[in-house]
Amino acid sequence: MSDCIFCKIARGEIPSRKAYEDDLVYAFHDIHPLRPTHILVIPRKHIASLAEVSAADEAILGRMLAVSHKLAAENGSAEGFRAIINTGRIGGQEVPHLHLHIVGGPEPVGPMVSKI
Ligand code: AMP
Ligand code: ZN
Repeated sequence: MSDCIFCKIARGEIPSRKAYEDDLVYAFHDIHPLRPTHILVIPRKHIASLAEVSAADEAILGRMLAVSHKLAAENGSAEGFRAIINTGRIGGQEVPHLHLHIVGGPEPVGPMVSKI
């Protein structure tokens, strides 16, 4: 997707604070962190949301989760973290490119459903 902001970030066309990258995913610090640790993990492939995935995307989805603990631990949240994927209107998704929020820090993140 040529005009997708997260595709542009993954391609390096829009600057970001990179936290990790490999062949399937790119991770960067959220521009408006809601906790001391707040990283977004995105697929390099444009997938609009968790509602748009197919069986062919299983390796990508697995990689997004598989890198999450290491990313949290390396960025100030070694004792745990919360992984969140907002999906669609009901889920409060704002950017239409699949992204996994990794949220944490030295203190517990807090209640599970209230806006973090
Ligand atoms: P969501 O509400 O789940 O779609 O989350 C979108 C997230 O993307 C928000 O936490 C924003 O702060 C974050 N975001 C939007 N634009 C950028 C950007 N250019 N760089 C880093 N994070 C961004
Ligand atoms: Zn995209």
